[in-house]
Amino acid sequence: MRLRHKPWAKEKIQNYPQYIVPNPENYRGKWNLLFDNKNPIHIEVGTGKGQFVTEMARMNPEINYIGIELQESVIVTALDRLIEAELPNVKLLHTNGEDLREFFEKGDVSRVYLNFSDPWPKNRHEKRRLTYESFLRIYEEVLIDEGEIHFKTDNRGLFEYSLMSFSKYGLLLKFVSLDLHNSDFEGNIMTEYEEKFSSMGHPIYRCEVQYKN
Ligand code: SAM
Repeated sequence: MRLRHKPWAKEKIQNYPQYIVPNPENYRGKWNLLFDNKNPIHIEVGTGKGQFVTEMARMNPEINYIGIELQESVIVTALDRLIEAELPNVKLLHTNGEDLREFFEKGDVSRVYLNFSDPWPKNRHEKRRLTYESFLRIYEEVLIDEGEIHFKTDNRGLFEYSLMSFSKYGLLLKFVSLDLHNSDFEGNIMTEYEEKFSSMGHPIYRCEVQYKN
């Protein structure tokens, strides 16, 4: 993701606590208080500019969505989308996916989405990949039993690596497509990166995996 320095971003984030949750640790185990309902919560780790979570929230009002993004200069664009969309069922957390357990307890999250995660192609950066074993353990510790990860990317190397990592961890492979846009999968919501790379002719890889009890 190309980053532009946005000195005003910090203040803007603080000005919209109704969209970027300022103290998410206060809702650990009680996110129903924030959303004012007991609907399932789906999170996207590395949400970027927020198109996916916003459109998913619009399409699925019975699900609560939380987009998690590390970069201040990126999450402010997602914030603009949320301000415009005015949806009650989508929020953002400005944090690292590594820290999910501080904000969610076991069972708080019903599904994890990973879309076009940074590939970190060098072996020495393996631990930063969002499908590395340590991240799979973190997701397991916040998900419901038999919770799922839905993963999309255009990066074949990362996709192959992730399928191996899921399999080594003992996750059940429920769906796989090596060319999502030419498959019969319905209801796909495109992310910003997906629009960019599919328009360049890249096939999109997608899988759904599930934790075993
Ligand atoms: N999901 C979006 C899409 O498909 O358009 C954005 C994809 S972009 C390549 C990956 C995003 O993940 C970046 O915005 C990056 O800052 C974020 N990211 C990477 N590692 C992260 C982490 N550990 N926790 C939270 N966000 C992370």
